[in-house]
Amino acid sequence: MNLTAAMAVLTALFAAGILNTTGGKPMNHYYSRTDTTVLHVQDSVWMKVLPADVYAVARTGATEEAFTGKYWNYEGIGTYYCAVCGNALFRSDSKFSSSCGWPSFFAPERQNSAVYRPDTSYGMNRTEVLCGRCGSHLGHLFDDGPAPTGKRYCMNSTVLEFEPDPAAANDVHHRR
Ligand code: FE
Repeated sequence: MNLTAAMAVLTALFAAGILNTTGGKPMNHYYSRTDTTVLHVQDSVWMKVLPADVYAVARTGATEEAFTGKYWNYEGIGTYYCAVCGNALFRSDSKFSSSCGWPSFFAPERQNSAVYRPDTSYGMNRTEVLCGRCGSHLGHLFDDGPAPTGKRYCMNSTVLEFEPDPAAANDVHHRR
């Protein structure tokens, strides 16, 4: 389901009072950029603490429209974290310009940043990429990426959160 359709479903659930309304969402206590403990949290709990668009992608596997996300053509230097749980997913130096319309990376931040699952939906044989900490849907993995890995992590901006490196770290980086 694309993100627009998923949001329509969620909006209907909000209207019917089945979902919590926006505003006044409880704090997401599972979010941490330092705790790497694997989380086992039910969707009904995520639904209460996540913004609807993040929930739609992360927990129902919705896909944002190509060329609409906030990071597909973004070039900041820093780290991309999971918007659901704060897990460090990608460094900007593994991001590459892809014409596909989604933020694309050739390698994760560390080996267990992400986990993988076969996805045969829509009559395609694809590999789904999930957050290694919270199990949320992030996107898909393809074999048409650039060197050195040949991989393309095709991600949804909606479930990523970019944090720029501190200015001092950038200075050191550029002085080399
Ligand atoms: Fe996560």
